[in-house]
Amino acid sequence: MNCIFCKIVKKEIPAKIIFETEKSLAFMDAFPLAKGHSLVVTKTHYEKVQDISKEDNADLFETVRRTISKVDKITDATLLAVHNGKQSGQEVPHVHVHLIPRSSEDSAGPVHSMFPNPPQLSDKDIQTIYEKLKES
Ligand code: 5GP
Ligand code: ZN
Repeated sequence: MNCIFCKIVKKEIPAKIIFETEKSLAFMDAFPLAKGHSLVVTKTHYEKVQDISKEDNADLFETVRRTISKVDKITDATLLAVHNGKQSGQEVPHVHVHLIPRSSEDSAGPVHSMFPNPPQLSDKDIQTIYEKLKES
């Protein structure tokens, strides 16, 4: 498999590693959106969050928690983001959490600003979706 993050995990290509455990790795993003933009990945290749084993998931989020205490010192405000699936913006199909320091000058808005045309949903639409989510 030709996965860039698997290569970083195996130390086949270099990365600026911040922290690691047996199951997860935190390193700096090579094309940062802000100073200190970092990524946390599972060491096992999983494509989407729902694929992760319970143990790897717990370890991943613990590494996020430990790394964010470092990254958050940069601006005192950090966006956590996960693209989960190609249409959500995921370019590297290996689970990763973005840690992006935010500031009032970065011209990026809150997540709501990504959706200029949110759907107008009736109570019935919402109820239908709710029942589908609850069932599955
Ligand atoms: P995605 O769009 O899949 O959520 O994010 C992938 C991220 O991986 C991007 O922010 C991109 O800058 C970063 N990235 C891509 N290739 C490399 C690389 O070779 N090394 C590192 N450190 N980051 C990378
Ligand atoms: Zn991978």
